[in-house]
This record gives sequence, structure tokens and C-alpha cells, in this order.
Amino acid sequence: MTAMTTHSSPRPGQVTAPDAALAAIPDRNCTWCKVPMAKRLVGGGAYIHYTCPKCIFQHTSKREKKSG
Ligand SMILES: [Zn+2]
Repeated sequence: MTAMTTHSSPRPGQVTAPDAALAAIPDRNCTWCKVPMAKRLVGGGAYIHYTCPKCIFQHTSKREKKSG
């Protein structure tokens, strides 16, 4: 007997969700305003760029590698 499996998953290929990547980034509060800063990945995801929505204070920190 031959079991025919016709599974068709409607996935539109590989889609990198920036929200998922941002979820893994730790939050950081502004040094001056003590408010959560907006964060975004820069440098191909190697760096985290924080921006304060109040005083526009910017901070860039390098992401630590998982392995090593
Ligand atoms: Zn601030």
C-alpha cells in the first residue's frame, strides 16, 4: 500500500519578522528620562540602536553572540 501525502503548507517562503527579533532584545530605559527607549536592529542585526522618544538620546549596543 502506498500512502500518498499531499501536504501543502501555504507558507510564502522565509519571512524574517523584525518583531520577533525585537522581542529578543532586552529593553533599555533612557538614562535621563527613565522611559523605555525605542529599539531597532542595525548593522545587519549585529547592533541594537536605542532611541529615546522624549529627549532623542541615542545609544548603540552590540549584540552578544549566543555561541562563544
Ligand atoms: Zn530620554
